[in-house]
Amino acid sequence: MSSRAIKVAIAGAGIGGLAAAIALRQRGCEVVVVEQAPQLGEVGAGVQMSPNAVKVLRAIGVEPLIRDVACEPLAFTGRDWKSGRVLYHTPIKGAFERLYGAGYYHVHRADLHNALIARLGAADLRLGQRVAGIERDRDTASLKLEGGEVIEADVIVGADGIHSTVRRNIFGDEKPRFTGNICWRGMVPVDALPKGHVELASSNWLGPKGHVVHYYVKGGAMVNFVAVYETDEWTQESWSTPSTVDELLKTYAGWNQELLTTFSNAERCFKWALYDRDPLTRWSDGRVTLLGDAAHPMLPFLAQGAAMAIEDGYELACAIGGVGAGAGIAEALVAYERQRIPRTSRVQLGARARGTTMHLRSPWARMKRNVGFMLQSFRTPESTTHRAEWIYGYDATAR
Ligand SMILES: Cc1cc2nc3c(=O)[nH]c(=O)nc-3n(C[C@H](O)[C@H](O)[C@H](O)COP(=O)(O)OP(=O)(O)OC[C@H]3O[C@@H](n4cnc5c(N)ncnc54)[C@H](O)[C@@H]3O)c2cc1C
Repeated sequence: MSSRAIKVAIAGAGIGGLAAAIALRQRGCEVVVVEQAPQLGEVGAGVQMSPNAVKVLRAIGVEPLIRDVACEPLAFTGRDWKSGRVLYHTPIKGAFERLYGAGYYHVHRADLHNALIARLGAADLRLGQRVAGIERDRDTASLKLEGGEVIEADVIVGADGIHSTVRRNIFGDEKPRFTGNICWRGMVPVDALPKGHVELASSNWLGPKGHVVHYYVKGGAMVNFVAVYETDEWTQESWSTPSTVDELLKTYAGWNQELLTTFSNAERCFKWALYDRDPLTRWSDGRVTLLGDAAHPMLPFLAQGAAMAIEDGYELACAIGGVGAGAGIAEALVAYERQRIPRTSRVQLGARARGTTMHLRSPWARMKRNVGFMLQSFRTPESTTHRAEWIYGYDATAR
């Protein structure tokens, strides 16, 4: 085994790439992260961080940096799209720390991103540089940047999202799958809403052909919403296609007035089509591997895409952090993917399945589902209706 620190080149400084970089540096690796965007700071949107992700954020020293700006919801609350009737109520605050070993946070993406960057510190973060491809042989691997520069490393990690260039280079050019869902995302200043209008919860309004999730971010100053609707009319996958509140209100005409009032106070909103992919059976080839959306893009219906990317980053660092810069790297990457693929595949497929339960069109099917929610809340009030105990209870840091 070589005594030289292992060098890891990561394509993409999203939540997954940054979490991996921090965990790898904690284990003594030299890290370079290449990001195409000239500036970092995620779009104006929220992200839910479940206990499995928070345990990793704690281990990499990021949890204290988001605590003041994060909001901890009291409960998951399910509501009927039209009447607003509560369909389920699962306690979070006070319960999740005890049940799963960490809390459940709502965070503005920019706050999480800034915390990750602050924690990464002096690592080599190269902004405004696009990865064009990779080169590899048995003993080396390199990122080729647009403009011609080549960064040689012991390990290459594709953390470059759903349209990953690294993935395309190792597994070919297979297009992501349009899932038949579009999604609006927006933020509402709390001051613009009637007092107490939005409960301190992870609220989920369940209707025919769609659902809406909202929750507080920015220490309670803003409400973030994600409104999903089934359609096959528009299929552009982007974070930043501007839409209008009018278009949003038109789509959700007939839904509960409380929800429409929240929408109508949005400063602006964006829309995009939701894509995913089928699970892969391999993520690595020699010294090159994948993580996050590059490996397993999924529907956001279990709120786990970023959480899985964070877990991937930590477990990748566990797998290769103990290996020297010489032999053993390819084997370590195989161990990493064997650890991760069964779990992330189950979450990918579980997210698809949850869409079906949440978007039922038939009133009878919805009634049957809602009775099931009620019975479950009565029998086991602390268990989640989306059966997420196996997701939240997982502790990547316990290995
Ligand atoms: C509506 C919605 C709500 C969601 N809510 C949640 C939630 O509540 N909780 C949760 O855990 N997950 C959630 N997700 C999923 C989550 O946003 C993603 O899974 C997560 O952001 C993936 O992180 P990543 O780092 O793998 O990829 P990305 O965030 O896509 O980052 C990839 C990075 O790579 C860069 N890049 C791409 N190509 C190149 C290149 N060629 N060269 C250099 N850089 C490149 C990009 O600019 C980007 O910065 C949600 C997703 C959606 C759509």
